Amino acid sequence: MLTFENSKSFADKSDLEDELAYIRNRFNIPQHDGSDTVYFCGNSLGLQPKNTSVYVNQELTDWAQLGVEGHFKKDTGWFAYHELVRDAAARIVGAKPIEVAVMNHLTVNLHLLLVSFYRPTKDRYKIICEAGAFPSDRYALQSQARFHGFDPEDAIVELEPSEGSDLIAEEDILQAIEDCGDELALVMFGGVHYFTGQVLDFKKITEAAHEVGAYAGFDLAHAAGNLKLELHQWNVDFAAWCSYKYLNGGPGTVGGIYVNERHVKNPHLPRFAGWWGNDPATRFKMPHQFTPVLTADSWQLSNAPILEMAALRASFELFDEAGMDRLVKKSNALTSYLKFVIEDVLTSLGKSDLVKIITPFTEQKQGCQLSLQFETDGKTIFDALTNKGVIADWREPDQEGRGSGVIRVAPVPLYNSFNDVYRFGQFLKEAISPL
Ligand SMILES: *Cc1c(COP(=O)(O)O)cnc(C)c1O
Repeated sequence: MLTFENSKSFADKSDLEDELAYIRNRFNIPQHDGSDTVYFCGNSLGLQPKNTSVYVNQELTDWAQLGVEGHFKKDTGWFAYHELVRDAAARIVGAKPIEVAVMNHLTVNLHLLLVSFYRPTKDRYKIICEAGAFPSDRYALQSQARFHGFDPEDAIVELEPSEGSDLIAEEDILQAIEDCGDELALVMFGGVHYFTGQVLDFKKITEAAHEVGAYAGFDLAHAAGNLKLELHQWNVDFAAWCSYKYLNGGPGTVGGIYVNERHVKNPHLPRFAGWWGNDPATRFKMPHQFTPVLTADSWQLSNAPILEMAALRASFELFDEAGMDRLVKKSNALTSYLKFVIEDVLTSLGKSDLVKIITPFTEQKQGCQLSLQFETDGKTIFDALTNKGVIADWREPDQEGRGSGVIRVAPVPLYNSFNDVYRFGQFLKEAISPL
């Protein structure tokens, strides 16, 4: 059990003892009035590694100097450039390299994976997902159901949080899967809920889905680079993620997919095809028939966006240097400290009821985000924090009208510090005191 103190000296000491602290210097930190911002928005857009421009400029230079010959340059030829990011991506999500492809963008990838993993029949056509899922995921599932001739109202089972809670109980998910039984085609959840920060048990949900003959897929938008994932070991069927949140690839950059080994080795599994999914041994012979390469690459359609991938390499270099184990360890400490500091500030002001941390907290199963639901004055406090140089994320009150909105804060272990957390606490105190 760690003992924390809400003090500058404690934050300084913790930063000194943090073996990953130096990595912060490898990032560009946005400034506010001549000081570093408290950037707690890496769950929305990760910061830019200083090496990003080096990697991207290299490809621009090669293009300028080599033109089309760049496809076959030594070591970083564009023909196989996607292979340069594969292994690091696989390490981040806990997969075998053949199970991972860096390609497209998140919603596009969800659709491509649903082509393979949502093939409903008259009797087995239901999808279980969370109510209040990220809109893009809902649109994807609804349009897929309609595309197959089903009414989304009937086909999609959206699980609500249990009575009086902001969270979906794990027992409810497992029960719903069992209840759907033979009718269930697919279970798809966000691995970390984008709004509440709740982390689900991937393994249990996957097992339950398989038990009734359904597939299990996860949206890792808020999980990739945030949790210690073991997709292969958990036997997850498929997953997709974006790389601009915790993976620091830059705005709108190329995303990624995971498809379990047993599916990538099955050439009969239907998928949409394009030339970049064809076996590279015959790709340029321009064969008449598509022959999928027996890796996740076969879901690729087009040739790779080199500049986006170059940017990603700069971030993956840092992930490899830190390793997910050390990052998750620091993440737990940093987020525990943040929780402590927030509670200490509220207690010292006699305002413990002002904020409810809706993110469930267990060290074994924790992302770095905390969602703070304000009883009153949420927007006023958020604006005051912004004026002081805190960059966080504001969400209007939910449809049930609970509280006065939510501030999501995410201290990211790659570049945030214990001093960031301490400073956040001081700013929070200054924002709440005048109320
Ligand atoms: C960020 C996010 C998205 C964004 O989708 P894009 O296709 O990358 O624009 C989708 N789903 C979830 C759960 C997200 O958090």
